[in-house]
Amino acid sequence: MDSNISFQSKLLNTPISIFTIMSGLANEHKAINLSQGFPNFETSRKLMDLVTENMILGNNQYAAMQGNLDLRLQIAKKIKLIYQKDIDPISEITITAGATQALFTAISAFVENGDEVIVIEPAYDSYIPAIKLCGGVPVIYELEYPDYSIDWEKLATLFSAKTKMIIINTPNNPAGKIFKKSDLISLQSILENKNVILLSDEVYEHLIYDGESHESVLKYPSLYQKSIAVYSFGKTFHNTGWKIGYVVGPDYLMQEFRKVHQFNVFSVNTPIQAALATFMNDPNEFMGLQNFYQAKRDYFLEQTKSSRLEPIPCEGTYFQLFSYKNVSNNSDLDFAKYLTTDIGVASIPISAFYTSKRDDHVLRFCFAKTEETLEKAGALLNKL
Ligand code: PMP
Repeated sequence: MDSNISFQSKLLNTPISIFTIMSGLANEHKAINLSQGFPNFETSRKLMDLVTENMILGNNQYAAMQGNLDLRLQIAKKIKLIYQKDIDPISEITITAGATQALFTAISAFVENGDEVIVIEPAYDSYIPAIKLCGGVPVIYELEYPDYSIDWEKLATLFSAKTKMIIINTPNNPAGKIFKKSDLISLQSILENKNVILLSDEVYEHLIYDGESHESVLKYPSLYQKSIAVYSFGKTFHNTGWKIGYVVGPDYLMQEFRKVHQFNVFSVNTPIQAALATFMNDPNEFMGLQNFYQAKRDYFLEQTKSSRLEPIPCEGTYFQLFSYKNVSNNSDLDFAKYLTTDIGVASIPISAFYTSKRDDHVLRFCFAKTEETLEKAGALLNKL
């Protein structure tokens, strides 16, 4: 038998993701799984029927590389309605196989060997591997417990002649922190006259609470001119398994994005795109989400009120952070494992979202769940 070939791993020191570990442990111990970020309730029946209808109608072959035009028109309409921004659906929007693919494609389209990319942590776990696979060098800015806000002067010192891109994420997974207008204005002045692309992960654009509104890069013309903004239908329409999203950016950046996109996925699921185009005709399908998820956040907080866990304010996303500093001194990974195996609720330790594995004794719980699940989880957490 031939011996194994030898190769240099392109992603050295990349362990199995924490999501796989915690979900595995949750299944093994029949714990309530609040670790991974997905709803445990159904997507709209109307939307499912539209997908079926489109399949039966014969919408089953390759879609256009840029995405279904009707869907891009609906997205442009939505952007006008929410952000008062005119976007050309032909040249400034591309439909992707979810936000992760969009992020990967955007990074591969622009980041070259030796380029630096500024990443704000705690961060979604796909950014850094994607940067490294392109030969880029992540430059990390750490947000700090308990406020998780940005000191823009400090962040500005991270830019160098090699900086090619900065990635932002508002609302932030996992911190639940949102950028305010002043943050966008600071960012705008830092990026002024810099040759740096802004990759803006806005997948939780609709999940924002307490009367605040989402500060999209689309609202700031000079930022938009250097941005690719990323969105996910999975988060908005409760169907993370469908893996459809889109990117918005100025024509000259979108042309480069599409050069990579066409050789990466080429095009995206045809019947679902067609169904989404019809479904989005009714803005109520996405405008009601703030109240829907704010009620879930508040319900979860109410259910955990008598626990010794300390909630950290959640301004957006469907994640609630808790500090367990009043309960244990163990590492967040050990404590998250103990909560799963002995108490019966799975969460994610926040150290997993930091390259430095910074451990502030904080856990992330997903509240995109039915009231019944949140009530059961609350009863278990109250035993702590
Ligand atoms: N960005 C962030 C911040 C996320 O939390 C997620 C999903 N957890 C994604 C991107 C990926 O979205 P999608 O499932 O559409 O790939």
